[in-house]
Amino acid sequence: MQDVTRTFPVPAGRGPQSAPADLLRRLRARTTADPVTHVERVPARAGVTAPWPDWTPEELRAALDRRGVVAPWRHQAEAAELAYAGRHVVVATGTASGKSLAYQLPALATLLADPRATVLYLAPTKALAADQLRAVAALELDGVRPATYDGDTPRAEREWIRRHSRFVLTNPDMLHHGILPGHAQWSGFLRRLTHVVVDECHTYRGVFGSHVAHVLRRLRRQCAKYGRAGGPTFVLASATSGDPATAAGRLTGLPVTAVTEDTSPRGGVTFALWEPPLLPAADSSSPEADLLQVRRSALRETADLLADTVAEGVRTLAFVRSRKGAEVVAATARRALDEAVPGLGERVAAYRAGYLREERRELERALLHGDLLGLASTNALELGVDLVGLDAVLICGWPGTRASLWQQAGRAGRSGDEALAVLVARDDPLDTYLVHHPEALFGRPVEATVLDPANPYVLGPQLACAAAEAPLTPADLELFGDGAKEAVDALVASGALRQRPTGWYWRHRERPEVDLRGEGGAPVCVVEASTGRLLGTVDGGSSHFLLHTGAVYLHQGVSYVVDSLDLADGCALVHAEEPDWSTHARDVTSLSVVSVRSYTDAGPVGLFLGEVDVTSQVVSYQRRRIASGEVIDTRPLDLPARELRTVAVWFTVSPESLASAGVEAADIPGALHAAEHAAIGLLPLMATCDRWDIGGLSTAVHPDTEAPTVFVYDGHPGGAGFAERAYRTAAAWLRATRDAIAECGCEAGCPSCVQSPKCGNGNNPLSKPDAVRVLDVVLTNLPTPTLPRPLAPRPVDHEVGVMENAP
Ligand SMILES: [Zn+2]
Ligand SMILES: [Zn+2]
Repeated sequence: MQDVTRTFPVPAGRGPQSAPADLLRRLRARTTADPVTHVERVPARAGVTAPWPDWTPEELRAALDRRGVVAPWRHQAEAAELAYAGRHVVVATGTASGKSLAYQLPALATLLADPRATVLYLAPTKALAADQLRAVAALELDGVRPATYDGDTPRAEREWIRRHSRFVLTNPDMLHHGILPGHAQWSGFLRRLTHVVVDECHTYRGVFGSHVAHVLRRLRRQCAKYGRAGGPTFVLASATSGDPATAAGRLTGLPVTAVTEDTSPRGGVTFALWEPPLLPAADSSSPEADLLQVRRSALRETADLLADTVAEGVRTLAFVRSRKGAEVVAATARRALDEAVPGLGERVAAYRAGYLREERRELERALLHGDLLGLASTNALELGVDLVGLDAVLICGWPGTRASLWQQAGRAGRSGDEALAVLVARDDPLDTYLVHHPEALFGRPVEATVLDPANPYVLGPQLACAAAEAPLTPADLELFGDGAKEAVDALVASGALRQRPTGWYWRHRERPEVDLRGEGGAPVCVVEASTGRLLGTVDGGSSHFLLHTGAVYLHQGVSYVVDSLDLADGCALVHAEEPDWSTHARDVTSLSVVSVRSYTDAGPVGLFLGEVDVTSQVVSYQRRRIASGEVIDTRPLDLPARELRTVAVWFTVSPESLASAGVEAADIPGALHAAEHAAIGLLPLMATCDRWDIGGLSTAVHPDTEAPTVFVYDGHPGGAGFAERAYRTAAAWLRATRDAIAECGCEAGCPSCVQSPKCGNGNNPLSKPDAVRVLDVVLTNLPTPTLPRPLAPRPVDHEVGVMENAP
């Protein structure tokens, strides 16, 4: 496979280039075919300030002034006024728009005005709470005594914090596991609680978000018990998101006012959409040449761009979806730079969430101080870390949502300087669709944050936790919302709760074990066998894919091979080794329909939403050459199957209608399979999921539907709202899917349209033209907009049809 030749025409260390348009011109000129499909100029914006609210204490104003804050931006003042007046408010503005002042101002002003008042601050990560502690402590306000209270807080300090701190910074996990179960010890703090700050609240989405929604309801319940009437005021901070008032309302269960107009100044950004070129087929005489046709990988392209910008002295942050990808981009860029100028490679590093805290802090410091010029990161950096003002941001692959895209691009050029942002498309249907449909990216509102507190897999365990804290009363059921009564009845039936005249009581001595983020199980530790050194952690859900025996695992660009994965101990033993292949796990999936929640009868086409049981098992892995992508071999694995009851959307098409559309019976499996892959690829356009949150399955006859069927399901127990959103937007979703396939320039299907990188069947069979025919039949018959008919759940016999998985 031939590669694009590249050189470094500009010697290293020449210093940052000021004009991003010039930089972009040089980057595009380095390949023969122009990879840029669109350039959008996002203009600079001047800031709008407002006077300090007249209730701002002089002491606070002086302290902020010492920190360089002379006047609040208008959105900060607006949100602060609402929160100070006791209105629940969410401020949803861009990266580095100063959201923290919007909650610090009312919270700290209240603490200074009322010497008994207390404030609780929640961040999704300990690191962010620690950052915020530093910021508040630096103001040196008398009597506030800010303190973090999390898993790292020494026992000896905990009592002092409960008694004396008036600004406690923690995370939802600690609130759930520590503070709420020990509410009696916190009664004094909760009695005086005036404000609850929920920072980075857009991260509370999907199943995790639904858990956090109930943790906040449990907090409100304890505040009502100990505290003053009305309860504390909630102040939420969110990245830019669609309809933040509704999302914040779902999260807190309260009416929330949104402040969304960002009045902070912003540097201009030149935003380029970049599609790597198609590589020549390995053997064009082969009849399968089209199937072998692929684009240059987005990882390689991003690594090259990173090397190019670093060589020009441009401080660059590259966002890569996977932890593996970030390591590969950093390693590839380092190697290329070292070849050009020995030693230059040291100025590039990788960053991801699994690293230990000290390593992360060191990398952030190095990039801020310019010791590092290039950093390849997973989206761990989306969370609050104050790393902004970079000269260029490279986004390797669509980050899943427009909100994330702007969050990542917002790391570039805030100091008033112009900056460059580049979205590099992966060889994938959604990415390809987006770089050719810029109107789907620019000038459109960002997605809403989706969470579903009524998910019974969340509601039941959360009500058990609430009951263990204090018996539940009928009034509490209202607090916990839709489905609470049914969930309590189920807990009574299972023996977890006992009903008495005064309410529902938790029957056990131990508290219920509920992990807010725990659907994938506890994190797995990665340990170097020879030294016992802990390299990092991988979340339980990914461990079967990333840490199976034989897997190649990268850490800081150093490659390790897994000797063994011990699921019982939650530990993978590895040794350092640098093979010239990468590993790719594969799983097989079966699915059965449990019940139908809603359906649309459209003649020969049926569209359904319902519960399904999915069984999946990682069964093997492929080894592929890193340079060429060539498959070396496939090796079996012996890992346990995992069960998932979740929500799916599916459509059926009658064989007769397929026949009249020209789809031969023998081609139906390939047609459905191709449509399924592309439909999964395009769903993130409609829902705030990323494609790794969803799975799919297709079959010419499914035992539960007795018809050709394509299923797409939420990859989370109980569902996370994605399949439901797909059902509600089915016509638009399948239209985009059909167009993405039909418009693709390839002949027989490629990763940009119908191939899937993680197909359990090796992308076989796939029929691209027949997939378009299937979707045409569906779209012709499907009413627009879809009018769903509600239906009582209907049990279906459990039959398992074994088919392949999709990512
Ligand atoms: Zn294609
Ligand atoms: Zn497949």
